[in-house]
Amino acid sequence: MIRSFFNVEPDSHFPIQNLPYGVFKPEGESMPRIGVAIGDYILDLSVVEKAGFFNNTAVKGKKVFEQSSLNLFMGTGKETWSEVRSIIQKLLSDKDPALRDNASLRRKALIPQADAEMLMPVDIGDYTDFYASKDHATNVGAMFRGRENALMPNWTHLPVGYHGRASSVVLSGTDIHRPQGQIKPPEAETPIFSPCRQLDFELEMGCFIGTGNQLGEPIPVGQAEEHVFGLVLVNDWSARDIQAWEYQPLGPFLAKNFATSISPWVVPLEALEPFRVQGPIQEPEPLAYLKEDKPGSFDIELEVYLKGKNMQKPERITRTNFQYLYWSMAQQIAHHTITGCNLNPGDLLASGTISGPEKETRGCLLELTWRGKDPVELENGEQRTWLEDGDELMMTGWCQGEGYRIGFGEVKGRILPVRTLNI
Ligand code: CA
Repeated sequence: MIRSFFNVEPDSHFPIQNLPYGVFKPEGESMPRIGVAIGDYILDLSVVEKAGFFNNTAVKGKKVFEQSSLNLFMGTGKETWSEVRSIIQKLLSDKDPALRDNASLRRKALIPQADAEMLMPVDIGDYTDFYASKDHATNVGAMFRGRENALMPNWTHLPVGYHGRASSVVLSGTDIHRPQGQIKPPEAETPIFSPCRQLDFELEMGCFIGTGNQLGEPIPVGQAEEHVFGLVLVNDWSARDIQAWEYQPLGPFLAKNFATSISPWVVPLEALEPFRVQGPIQEPEPLAYLKEDKPGSFDIELEVYLKGKNMQKPERITRTNFQYLYWSMAQQIAHHTITGCNLNPGDLLASGTISGPEKETRGCLLELTWRGKDPVELENGEQRTWLEDGDELMMTGWCQGEGYRIGFGEVKGRILPVRTLNI
């Protein structure tokens, strides 16, 4: 097993096998730059780049790491990502003296994470949200339409999705004001204007597109993963009461457009390769353009924690796994582009809520509480049907290897009271 020249604990999310990319600012400095997480540190890639370590790759002279977003590097393509990654891995390994034995370079290039501010890693041009978990779609469908009609007839034939809103994708740690809008309570004859009463989270994972495709040229399913730069955790905040009133016939609009939170570290797809698994069996067989000839899922443990303002510590309310997703990332990309729709470097494709078959593996409060009928019981005696003001939500995820973890860090956010509106 490859090891780095300094100590990284076995339960750290950021061993040398991971090396996720992020954008950060060291304390007291004004220029953002790009780094990889290693243990409790960040390796500043703009320093490594300046020192000439990438001069034998396609990024030479391009200053791809002296940037405020990953987009330029994302656009360089899979071969370059892989070359750069192996140079970084070698540089951090205990076998290589270049950084290990160079104290002045180490001082310049390694920054404690505690002394850095993380920034949005990607300039997101477009955001698409899928609905790829069969358990989630079945549960939600059963609540709204009954068991017999739970899945719409199209669901097992194509990855359902909608075009989301990139402008309100925010970094972990951003607090979210409770949204307000039109709702129609069951007892009301006409809609009312109100703060959202059914505020929810959605546990998702997001895939960042590296290289895109030309307008008019679909990406074949077998090549789709070559376009994936890496993955992040996503909390797609949702206003269920606004959604219930507005969603027909065109799908969610305001219920989803007020905030979507992402984790700051983008885990390269290459780091996930040892954890590749077969997703659920697809029956009926998908049409040829969606048919994959290799396993397209990954074994990623996922957890959600809630901390109310009266709670001493966060409490886990969900534990699930990425591999429950029915439609793979490759199938989502193939479907998204089959019309010729072009994806660009930095586009975000989120999976949709990830739920498994068991109650405790459900990825949102709508399902956990069965639309409010069965509240979540917390250790301090409180209950939750929906999120309350002051609640902090934290999601985390990792792949468990032999003696190491490929972690995603965390995505968190707190609910602030609704903003008053003078009408
Ligand atoms: Ca969603």
